[in-house]
Amino acid sequence: MTTRADSISSLLQLAHTLGKDDLRMSILGEGNVSIRVSDETFLVKTSGANLGSLSETGIAECRFDKLLPMIDSKGMDDAQIDQALFDARVSLDAKKPSVESLFHAWLLGLPGVQCVGHVHAIAVNQILCSPRAKEFARNRIFPDEIVCCGCESVFVPYTDPGLALAQVIRQKTLKFVARTKRDPRIILLENHGVIAVGSSPDGVLASLLMVEKSAQIFVGSAALGGPNFLTAKQVQRIAGRPDEHYRQSVLKL
Ligand SMILES: [Zn+2]
Repeated sequence: MTTRADSISSLLQLAHTLGKDDLRMSILGEGNVSIRVSDETFLVKTSGANLGSLSETGIAECRFDKLLPMIDSKGMDDAQIDQALFDARVSLDAKKPSVESLFHAWLLGLPGVQCVGHVHAIAVNQILCSPRAKEFARNRIFPDEIVCCGCESVFVPYTDPGLALAQVIRQKTLKFVARTKRDPRIILLENHGVIAVGSSPDGVLASLLMVEKSAQIFVGSAALGGPNFLTAKQVQRIAGRPDEHYRQSVLKL
C-alpha cells in the first residue's frame, strides 16, 4: 500500500527530474506536479515553488471537495479564488497551493489517474506558440509517441491561467473522450505548456519526456518540409498491439 510519505517522496523525485536544467522543461517557478493521497485529498506544488529544488514545504495537501465545486462557479474574482485556494489546504501551515491546483484536482478524477505533471517545455512550446499547434495535437509521427502519449492529445486554445483554464480543460477533455473513446495522456495548452496524466509519477515522466522528444522531431522535420504523419490506420495498429500494451504497463503509464 502506498503511504502518504511514499507519495511525497515520489512526487518530489518527479519534480526534481522535471526541473533538471538539461531537460529544458521548467525554470524558476514554472510548472507543477500533483499526486492523489486518498479520495478526499491530494498533494500539489505550492505557488511559485521551483520544481528542481522542491522540498516538502513546497507541497500543500488539498481537499478535492473544496476545489472541484469552484470549477462550476461563475464570476469569482482573483481575491476570492486566492482565498478558496488557502481554504482548500488540509494544514494551515502549508503555503498557498498553485492556482493551477484547480485543473490538477479535476484531472486526478479521471479514470486511472493518480498523478499529474505540468511543464513549459521548450520544444513543445515552440510548436504551441506557432500556427501548427493543433496539427501536433491531432497527429502522430512515430510509434513510441503513440505508446507514451496516446493516439492523439487534447488541444486547449489559449485561456487565462487559473479558474478559466481549469474550466476549459474540463470542457475540452470531456469532448476528447466522447469523440475518441479514449482517455487522454497528454493535454496541450496553446501558448502555454503541456500536461501529462498517468497512473504513477514514472508514467507521467515517461509521457512528458516523450512529448518533448516528439516536439523536437516535429520541429526538425518541419524544417525539412515535413513532418510525414503516420496514417490513422498505422496509429490504430500500434495502439491495438498487445506488445505495446505490455510496454505501457512496464512504463507504469
Ligand atoms: Zn503553466
